[in-house]
Amino acid sequence: MTTITKEQMNTLVELQKIEIEKLKVQRVLDAVAKKLTHLEAGLIQMTADIGGQREQLAELKHRYREFEDQVREKEDLIRKIEEKRRAVKTNREYQSLLKEEEQLKTRRSQIEDEMLVLMSGIETTEKDLVERETEFAEKSRAIEADKVSVKENALDSEERFATLKSQWDEVARQTSPDLLKKFNQVKSRQNNGVAVAPVRHAVCYGCHMNIPPQMFNELQRCDSLKLCPFCYRILYWDKE
Ligand SMILES: [Zn+2]
Repeated sequence: MTTITKEQMNTLVELQKIEIEKLKVQRVLDAVAKKLTHLEAGLIQMTADIGGQREQLAELKHRYREFEDQVREKEDLIRKIEEKRRAVKTNREYQSLLKEEEQLKTRRSQIEDEMLVLMSGIETTEKDLVERETEFAEKSRAIEADKVSVKENALDSEERFATLKSQWDEVARQTSPDLLKKFNQVKSRQNNGVAVAPVRHAVCYGCHMNIPPQMFNELQRCDSLKLCPFCYRILYWDKE
């Protein structure tokens, strides 16, 4: 049985009050952090989309340059054939070169058609990219402004949290190390961080269960540390 004085119990109750207040402020600050992450997530997605589109544009331009090379190559060949054609002796040779030249010209014209399609794709992508970049710049500015206001609104809570933390430290210093250890142990086992619960009319207000009458009698004497048999919180008798 851990003995405890009324004063020590009051210290634990005080710690718990600060703890509950701290948790409330912590929830506000968590919501702020979540809001900021959410705001930034939108920008991250847009950055990724723009990056993908820039790559796509570079790829289209690269293909266009390859086609330009192919056209130049065909034109060189056509020029060479025309020179050869002027020097040939037989009609058969002449006809064969003419045929070859026709084929090269057909191929060149096919490539030029493909280049036109590609160019229109490049123009569409460039236009779309400019629009997206403008939209991104506008959204970034709006989000930055939102972030500033969210952070400003959080300032009070941050201050309050710091105050509560120093209050907690102060009260913790006045608490015996054994009791503090017990308090922290009980707290760590609770989902809501509440380690100390008042008992009113023999009901534990941590879990709303009736505690045994014998325990309730002992609790009113305020001389030993009692844990709720149901939720394992540290109990204190609240006469109110
Ligand atoms: Zn309980």
